[in-house]
Amino acid sequence: MKRFYFLILIIVLLFSCKKEETSVATPNEVVKPSLEWTKMEKDSILYGDTSLAMRVYLTTNYADSLVLRKTSIDVVVDSTDLYLNTLIKRMKKAMLDEGGVGIAAPQLGINRNIIWVKRLDKVGKPYEIYLNAKIVMTSELMINFNGDGCLSVPNVTGKTLRYRAVGVEYDLLDGSHHKEVVDGYTSTQFTAVIFQHEIDHLNGILFIDRIVN
Ligand SMILES: [Zn+2]
Repeated sequence: MKRFYFLILIIVLLFSCKKEETSVATPNEVVKPSLEWTKMEKDSILYGDTSLAMRVYLTTNYADSLVLRKTSIDVVVDSTDLYLNTLIKRMKKAMLDEGGVGIAAPQLGINRNIIWVKRLDKVGKPYEIYLNAKIVMTSELMINFNGDGCLSVPNVTGKTLRYRAVGVEYDLLDGSHHKEVVDGYTSTQFTAVIFQHEIDHLNGILFIDRIVN
């Protein structure tokens, strides 16, 4: 009888070892993060209604600066998502309240690939929202852009090294995917610089990293 129990024990042990083995990722396997909203993100987004701007994170606050330096992950594009819709509206409110021409979600403490950009290159200069935005091409020519600044970096402006034009890819809230080349690096039409500045935020890069003398 003892021998029988011992045999059962061995079988159970072997089975549990095998199960564990299969759940371990191989060294070359990239484990993708879940794109579901975390509880912390949900709580932060729904802390206020859409008329309440979210707090802008600042480099002068140590805890904030850690968030600003993190790489953001993509979002699931879903126009019916309460959290996404609320976040987008509260981001816009924060940007307009501060007089910005763009804002990225990490500046509100949400490390997600969401940016607002004022399209200085379009008629009426509309603010537009882009999800999962990436720079996929850059011009060979670069310029020194005079007057770069950021809502998250108080009291600092500077001259930054930027591409004259960039190719960008992004999703819109309606689920459509787009590619376009964005131009504009002058003092009045600097849309290409706004895209570079905001997409930098998604990679934890701030304009102060690109300052030239
Ligand atoms: Zn900024």
